[in-house]
Amino acid sequence: MIITRFPPSPTGYLHVGGARTALFNWLYARHMNGKFILRIEDTDIKRSTQASVDAIFEALEWLGIDWDEGPYFQSKRFDVYQTYIQKLLDSGHAYYCICSQEKIDIMRKEAMTAGGKPKYDGTCRDKGLAKTGNAVIRFRAPGTGTTIVKDIIKGGIVFQNSEQDDFIICRSDGTPTYNFVVVVDDITMGINTVIRGDDHLNNTPRQIMLYNALGSPLPAFGHVPMVLGKDRTRLSKRHGAMSVTAYKDMGYLPDALINYLVRLGWSHGDQEFFSRDELIEKFTLENIGKSPGIFDQEKLLALNADHIKAASPENLSNHLLPFLKERGCMAEKGDFLDSVIKTLNTRSKTLIDMANGALFYFQENVLYEEKAAKKFLKPASIEAFKQLIDQLEPLESFNENSLENAFKKVMETTGLKLGKIAQPVRVALTGKTVSPGIFEIIEVLGKKQVISRLQNAVQFIKNREVED
Ligand code: GLU
Repeated sequence: MIITRFPPSPTGYLHVGGARTALFNWLYARHMNGKFILRIEDTDIKRSTQASVDAIFEALEWLGIDWDEGPYFQSKRFDVYQTYIQKLLDSGHAYYCICSQEKIDIMRKEAMTAGGKPKYDGTCRDKGLAKTGNAVIRFRAPGTGTTIVKDIIKGGIVFQNSEQDDFIICRSDGTPTYNFVVVVDDITMGINTVIRGDDHLNNTPRQIMLYNALGSPLPAFGHVPMVLGKDRTRLSKRHGAMSVTAYKDMGYLPDALINYLVRLGWSHGDQEFFSRDELIEKFTLENIGKSPGIFDQEKLLALNADHIKAASPENLSNHLLPFLKERGCMAEKGDFLDSVIKTLNTRSKTLIDMANGALFYFQENVLYEEKAAKKFLKPASIEAFKQLIDQLEPLESFNENSLENAFKKVMETTGLKLGKIAQPVRVALTGKTVSPGIFEIIEVLGKKQVISRLQNAVQFIKNREVED
């Protein structure tokens, strides 16, 4: 069984690059009917916060990335790490070191002046020292030969072991170090596939050495190229919103963000649009690309519009309701909201567009935009509004046909062209000059609302005449 994991460090929000890594692991596990594990890497106590943990959960839940095991917290697993440190000490793969920081600084400087890497020189390696108050524990690295990372994405990468010194696995205060705990976790959690950003590639040889020392089989590694901004520099705030939840707040659909992030680094022919199910069905590691993905906000926005178009009203209403509530609109799920959505889903790039566009449907008293009212709500329209009311009143049901006839009759009796009638009606019904099609709106609002809005507009024009 394929077992993957996502191990974020809770030192900030979940950014889009991290979300892509999570997605790759999640999709692969789902595609293979495997298992996806969530692990919070919170050993850096100074930088880890509960707020970040909560933000990561919120983002994953919104994206619909669910986990089969966990969340595990590294901060609660120190006894496991302790057991594994002891194993390495017992097997001679680790040793106590009492070199002072000053001494290490000097040996590093010397190594650098000699033209090498700043390395620990192995002073305590063979001393067989016992545990003392300020001793650290170092891993006995091979020192010679090579370590090969067989990367699914990048191919084989050879690292010279002479480059790698005896690194610390446990600090003098008893806390284990990063590379060590990752390996212990991945071994004990049964992880057999590790997909992560290629910024971690340099850690991998050290981790492989630890696997070997512990006698554990290696997982398959895949290091994914980073996501870059349009200027091909590493993604940062300069490139726009970076946190997943910012996209939630800006009215993006989780399926759109998922689709976009997966395509940044993975492809299936030249297909751009994928539903969540299609991604699960089609996602494999072979099609992860070797070049970095370029994050382009405009493309993401266009894809969001496509997903809004393709989503069912039922699904959209779940995501739209919070935006309507935020705008003081107490809409509820149901047929009315569904039909409102159907008039807006081809003309909204975000849920914010959609919520703004939907508000007029729920306002008993339409708020006229000043310019629109000035231009279109004039005495000349009163007659058209009255005629339209007369035409609509006896209709049993509204449909395109019956509404077209009603408007035709009004054109005949008033001698006005369709545009001269439709635009004032639009303002009377919506308060705005831009809206979904006039027949669509009338159908959705229904007879009672339409007639009352037309009557209100007549009254509005009359009142203004008096004021003038
Ligand atoms: N905690 C690491 C990070 O947030 C991930 C480490 C890994 O994938 O091995 O970058």
